[in-house]
Amino acid sequence: MDGLIRANVSEESRVPVGTNTAAVCPKVVARGQWGAVPPLSEERLQGPACRAVIHHTALWPCTAPPDCLAQLTHIQKLHMQDRHFQDIGYNFLIGGDGMIYEGRGWGVVGAHSKGNNHDSVGIAFMGNFNHESPSPAALSSTRLLLHCGVALGHLHPTYTLLGHRDLAKTECPGNTLYEALCLLTHH
Ligand SMILES: [Zn+2]
Repeated sequence: MDGLIRANVSEESRVPVGTNTAAVCPKVVARGQWGAVPPLSEERLQGPACRAVIHHTALWPCTAPPDCLAQLTHIQKLHMQDRHFQDIGYNFLIGGDGMIYEGRGWGVVGAHSKGNNHDSVGIAFMGNFNHESPSPAALSSTRLLLHCGVALGHLHPTYTLLGHRDLAKTECPGNTLYEALCLLTHH
């Protein structure tokens, strides 16, 4: 019940990003708003992504902006300094409260699924979902984000939704989130 109420609050507070997409696009916290450093370089996707790959960050659960901001900064640093990526690897990240954070954003090649980044968008749920369940708010926001991606032409209308483990030998996105993936395509 608590989850349902939070999901509703999250949907009501979303802000339209443009007149044509007002009905379908959720509010996204822009890079500048969470203190991202600029990418070292950026490569654009050649067309709409035909796959959406769901990840988890496998870090601490984050359910409110201060905690999520700390995790975003941590991940960007980890990806750029330790792994020598050009930027934070994911296209978007989702907080437990349903807040959506811009990573590389739409239309940009990510670094999240080796060998599969050039035709996909990578979305990471913040937390570890091997045992914790994804919140209804996070699932609801992601569903809206995917719908928005199709509306904006960044995701192919018949895109395939995958978990990272479908493409590589990894636990990602965790058992509970992997089991919940079907909830992301219901409208
Ligand atoms: Zn992953």
